Amino acid sequence: MSQGIVTVSYIIATILFILALGGLSNQETARRGNWYGIIGMTIALLATILGVVERHFEILLVALLIGGSIGLVLARRVQMTQMPELVAVLHSLVGAAAVAVGYASFMDPTKHFDLPIELTIHDIETYVGILIGAVTFSGSVIAFGKLSGRIGGSPLTIPGRHWFNLGLLVGAIYFGYQFVVQSAAGNGLEPLIIMTVIALLFGIHMVMAIGGADMPVVVSMLNSYSGWAAAATGFMLGNDLLIVTGALVGSSGAILSYIMCRAMNRKFLAVIAGGFGTGGGKTVSSGDGEDQGEVLPVDSQETAALLAGAKEVMIIPGYGMAVAQAQHTVYEITKVLRARKINVRFGIHPVAGRMPGHMNVLLAEAKVPYDIVFEMDEINEDFPNVDVSVVIGANDIVNPSALTDPDSPIAGMPVLECWKGTTSIVLKRSMATGYAGVQNPLFFEENTRMLFGDAKETLDEVLKAL
Ligand code: NDP
Repeated sequence: MSQGIVTVSYIIATILFILALGGLSNQETARRGNWYGIIGMTIALLATILGVVERHFEILLVALLIGGSIGLVLARRVQMTQMPELVAVLHSLVGAAAVAVGYASFMDPTKHFDLPIELTIHDIETYVGILIGAVTFSGSVIAFGKLSGRIGGSPLTIPGRHWFNLGLLVGAIYFGYQFVVQSAAGNGLEPLIIMTVIALLFGIHMVMAIGGADMPVVVSMLNSYSGWAAAATGFMLGNDLLIVTGALVGSSGAILSYIMCRAMNRKFLAVIAGGFGTGGGKTVSSGDGEDQGEVLPVDSQETAALLAGAKEVMIIPGYGMAVAQAQHTVYEITKVLRARKINVRFGIHPVAGRMPGHMNVLLAEAKVPYDIVFEMDEINEDFPNVDVSVVIGANDIVNPSALTDPDSPIAGMPVLECWKGTTSIVLKRSMATGYAGVQNPLFFEENTRMLFGDAKETLDEVLKAL
């Protein structure tokens, strides 16, 4: 394949990636956006394999076959509730790839530069690529551990942690200088390895120090880092498409992090510096034992009766709806209520679930019409007019203490203020806390009713009763 065809293919792939991102920003066009992405990636892969790779096709094909098969099996097996973990693992692979390519590029015996400055530029690209890659790798592995519950959600606060971070940063800059100087003399492996260890440590510490409730920002931030790692790899390899694609992922991830920070009322720098919102306060208050008063349980018959008597219903889905896979039953109930001229709306908190857009994906899967699904900002004022709010497996996102308790790990985060409506019905299995590990005063409000049990099972009963 000629260089011209490769360039044209790369431009087409780039346009398709931009269209894909544009499509993914809206539920109605998301499916189309996905297809743009798939076609763009296929063109990019074919152009690279046929036009850029010069030899050892058999090794490449075997690697593609192994990687592709693992990806296919994983994607088929993964449950919706495990998606965030899968995303974290995939980010870690991007980071690992950037590190591997960086080392390979540094050790390449055939590399040749006409001018010393070219070598210096290449060395800086290599160093930065490995640095971002290693941070992305170790940070994503820890994020995977936290999201899958293998590592506790509470933030690790080592004494003088900001000094520790600063020390690592200064170390990375110092060894960067050493690397460039030594590389010019034909060495440089030692500072490169030391920096890699520093970067790995930084990634681990950065994510370990994040409080449970701030994890959404970290997930989107690692998404952004994986993009920058890919872009740095593109510079190392002199591959324009990789630079552009990496920059697209990096910048869209950065925008998403900003949106998540705004949604949680957090300052971006404070989140990545670690432990924001938890310093000095109680990190985790044991939920179950705390005496906050009585809760008022209801059964599915009473729930059905409350719903049937309402005019305005707000459904608030959370992580538990994903666990129970209750979205289809929720929509069945919605249809029954709407047929009885009851206005049903969905209120979506930006950090509901375990990944950005988690609830929207589930509701789209159940074919809930988009025009009854609202963002928190659009409907939070309406709660005084709501007769019944149905909180399905949500906890932190409807916790009033976020607004009233400055010591809470979720202090300052805007929440869906369902307690301002006539009645809230909360569906969950027990009095256990949510992701942030704090008890929820909503459950003890006079106008709250608790419907205990697996959300899918209880909603099936509610549907039958309706
Ligand atoms: P939470 O994790 O706060 O609460 C979920 C609730 O669902 C639990 O209290 C649990 O209670 C209940 N639940 C679990 N399984 C079931 C089931 N089968 N049936 C019924 N209920 C069930 O979720 P929210 O969506 O309210 O809040 C999201 C939290 O996750 C926030 O703290 C957010 O910061 C964090 N987060 C969000 C990310 C994102 O990108 N969206 C990423 C990482 C973290 P019980 O066990 O008693 O049933």
